[in-house]
Amino acid sequence: MAGKVNPYEEMKKMVDKAGKTLCIDPGMVEVLKSPKRELTVNFPVKMDDGSVRVLTGYRVQHNEARGPFKGGIRYHPQVDIDEVRALASWMTWKTAVVDIPYGGAKGGIICNPKTMSVGEIERMTRRYASEISIIIGPTKDIPAPDVNTSGREMAWIMDTFSMHVGFACPGVITGKPKEIGGSLGRPEATSRGLVFCVREAAKKTGMNLKGATVAIQGYGNVGAFAHKLIERDFGCKVIAVSDSQGGIVSEKALRYDEVWAHKQKTGAVKNFPGTKPISNEALLELKVDILLPCALENVITKENAGKIKAKISGEGANGPTTFEADAILAKNGVLVLPDILANAGGVTVSYFEWVQNNYNFYWTEDEVNQKLDSVITKAFHEVWDMHEKHKCNMRDAAYLVAVKRVADATRTRGFYP
Ligand code: GLU
Repeated sequence: MAGKVNPYEEMKKMVDKAGKTLCIDPGMVEVLKSPKRELTVNFPVKMDDGSVRVLTGYRVQHNEARGPFKGGIRYHPQVDIDEVRALASWMTWKTAVVDIPYGGAKGGIICNPKTMSVGEIERMTRRYASEISIIIGPTKDIPAPDVNTSGREMAWIMDTFSMHVGFACPGVITGKPKEIGGSLGRPEATSRGLVFCVREAAKKTGMNLKGATVAIQGYGNVGAFAHKLIERDFGCKVIAVSDSQGGIVSEKALRYDEVWAHKQKTGAVKNFPGTKPISNEALLELKVDILLPCALENVITKENAGKIKAKISGEGANGPTTFEADAILAKNGVLVLPDILANAGGVTVSYFEWVQNNYNFYWTEDEVNQKLDSVITKAFHEVWDMHEKHKCNMRDAAYLVAVKRVADATRTRGFYP
C-alpha cells in the first residue's frame, strides 16, 4: 500500500543511514539505492464476458551484485512503481542479510484478483509471464509468490516460460507445487523463518513463549501458517487474527485448525464463533506479548506507533513499519524483528528449491527445515551482534549487515567498463 508514505523513499533513507555508519562513499550509496532495470508492461487480457482489458504490470530488478535477481510477484489494486521498487530493493537486502547468493527484484500487476475468475487470472498470469520473459530466466531473475499469488500462478508461469524456450524449465520460478519441482517446506517457509526469529528473540529477552499472547494481522500464506507454527511448536496463545475483511479477538486461544477451516468455508476470519470483531487498526494496538504484522506495508506509522503495546513485533509482511514509526517503537522498548530478517525464510527456501531444481536432486522436508533453521538462526545472531555493537535497533543492524555485504560485492566486482 503506497498510502501517504512512499516505501521507495523509506528504503532510501535506510540505505543512507547504513551508508553513513559504514562510511561508504556517496557514489556507492547512490549505486546501492538505484534499481538497475525497470520494465513496465501494458498488456491485453480477454475477460469472461468477451471484453478486453489492458492491465499494467512491472518487474523491477534492483541489484545483482551478489547473484541473480530474486523476488516475488504480487497482484493488488494498490501496486505502483514505487512500491515495486521498494519491494525489489528489500529483496536485495533480505537475500544479503541471510547471505544467500542472490540479488533483489520484484514484480506486480495492478489488479484485483478477488474479483476475477480463475480463467481470467490464468490468462493474465500467462500473458504477464510472456511479457516479462525477456528479462527473467533461471540464471537471470527468478520470480516467486507474493501477495495474492501462490503455487498455482507459479505453475502457469513455469509452463508459459517452458513453452517459450521449448523445454521444461522448473528453475525459472520458485514456490511451485511439488509435482513440478517445488520444494517441500516452501509453503510454510516464510512463517517458519518468522517463528524461528521470534524463538531466538524470546531467548535473548527471557520471554517464555509457552502461553505468550499473540496478535496476527493478515491471514494469507504468511499469517495463517505463523498461527499454526507458533501455536503448535511453542504453545503460544493466539488471541486475535485478521484479514482484509476485518479481524476477530477472543480471551480464549484461537485454534489454528478451527480458524483456518472457518476461513476456507466462509472466505474470511470474521464471524468465527465465540469471538468479537476487531478492526485491523485496533488489532495492532492490543496488549499482547507478540505482534505479527503479516499483511501489507505502512500499517505502523508515526500516528499509531506510540500505541503499540506488544513486546516483540515480528514483521511477516514487507515494510509494515515506517521509518518514523521505527524510532517511536525503539524509544518505547518494542523489539522489532525487521522484515528483511524476519520474513526471509520464504526466499531462503526458494533458494533451496532453485538449488534442487538445478541439481535435479530433491531433499526431504526435514532437511529443508533444518537447513532453514541454520540459515535464519545464523542471520538472527549476526544481526543481534551488530545491534549490540552499534547500540542500534534491529532494523538498523540488519541494514548494516546487508548493505555492507552488497557494497563489498560491488567493490570486489568493480565498475564496468
Ligand atoms: N515474496 C517473498 C518475499 O517477499 C518471497 C520471495 C522469493 O521467494 O523469491 O520474500
